[in-house]
Amino acid sequence: MAFDGRRWLADWRRKRRYRACLAGPARAVVLRYHSIGTPTSVSGYLDPGLSLPPSRFSEQLALLAARCDVLTVDELPERLSGTPPRRLAVVLTFDDGYRDNHDEALPLLAAAGLRAAFYVTTSPLRSGNGLWISELWRLVPRLSCGELELGDGAPPLAVTASPERTALRRLLTARLAALPAPAREAALGRMARSAGCGRGEGLAGSFVEPQHVAALRSAGMVIGAHTRSHPHLDLLDPREHDDEVTGSRRDLEAILGEPVRHFAYPNPGGSGTRADAAREAVRRAGFATAVTSTAAPLGPATDRLRIPRLGVYAGSERLLFHAIAAAAERS
Ligand SMILES: [Zn+2]
Repeated sequence: MAFDGRRWLADWRRKRRYRACLAGPARAVVLRYHSIGTPTSVSGYLDPGLSLPPSRFSEQLALLAARCDVLTVDELPERLSGTPPRRLAVVLTFDDGYRDNHDEALPLLAAAGLRAAFYVTTSPLRSGNGLWISELWRLVPRLSCGELELGDGAPPLAVTASPERTALRRLLTARLAALPAPAREAALGRMARSAGCGRGEGLAGSFVEPQHVAALRSAGMVIGAHTRSHPHLDLLDPREHDDEVTGSRRDLEAILGEPVRHFAYPNPGGSGTRADAAREAVRRAGFATAVTSTAAPLGPATDRLRIPRLGVYAGSERLLFHAIAAAAERS
C-alpha cells in the first residue's frame, strides 16, 4: 500500500492530542461515544463513522475494566480536585440518545460491570420521529437536484447529482443547528418534500423512548440532558437557551422522578459570547457538571461546566485505545 502522507500527519496529530490529554494533572479522561452497532445496522439513521461494532466496544470495556478506574461523571469532580491517584481514570459517556445505546451498549456495560452516562436529547422522546440529525442523514442523499430553499432567510442551496453530498450535509447541519426548533422543523419539512419522503420516515426505532431512558437508569447508568432539540448553542439566539437547557432537564426529570444533574453541550461547546451565554444557561439550570466535545487535559483548574472529552470514532479509536493502554501502563 502506498504511503499516505496526509493520513500519517492526521494520525500523528491525533496521537499527540491523546497523549497530552492522558497526561493531564488529574490523570483522567472522559470518552464520548454516540452509538454501538455495525455499519449495516446504523446506516439508516447515523453516519457509521460515529458508531462502533459491539465486539469492539466489548474489547474496549475489557481493557478499561482491567487497567483503569472507570468512574461515573458523578464521581469526576472529586477526582479533579483530589490528589491524583496512580491509576488512570476513565469516564464513559454517550451523546444524543440512539436506541442502540439501550439495545447494544447497555448489555455490554452490564456484563463488564461498568457504568456510563447517557446524555439524551428530549424532543424526539415525544415526537417518535428520531433526531433531526438522523432525518438529515436520511434526506440528503434523496434530495431532488436543483435549488433548495430552507426558508431561514439565507440564500437557497444548490443540490447537485453527486452521490455522496458530504459537503452539502455538513452545510445543512450547520444551517439547521443555528435555527430555533420551529424554524428547523419547517426547513426539514421542505427537505422532506424535496426528497419525496414523509417526516421521520424510516426512523422508527432509531431513538430511545421514555421506557428505555428509565431502563438505563434502573440499570445504574447516569442520565444527563443534551438540550431539547439538539441546536448548536453557540450559534443559537441566547433567548432560546433556557428552553433548550432547563427544558431538557425538566423533560428527563418528569420521566425519572429524580433530579438530573449532568449536561452535555451538543456540538463543540466552545468559546465566544454565545458560548458564554450557553454556559450561563447551564449554570442557571442547576447542573453539577457539563461536558463539551473539545479535547483538553483535565485537572483542578477544569471548569466543571465545561469538562473536555475525547471523541471515540470508528476511524481512529484503535489509536486512542493504544494511547490509553500506554498511559495505563505508566501507573
Ligand atoms: Zn449530540
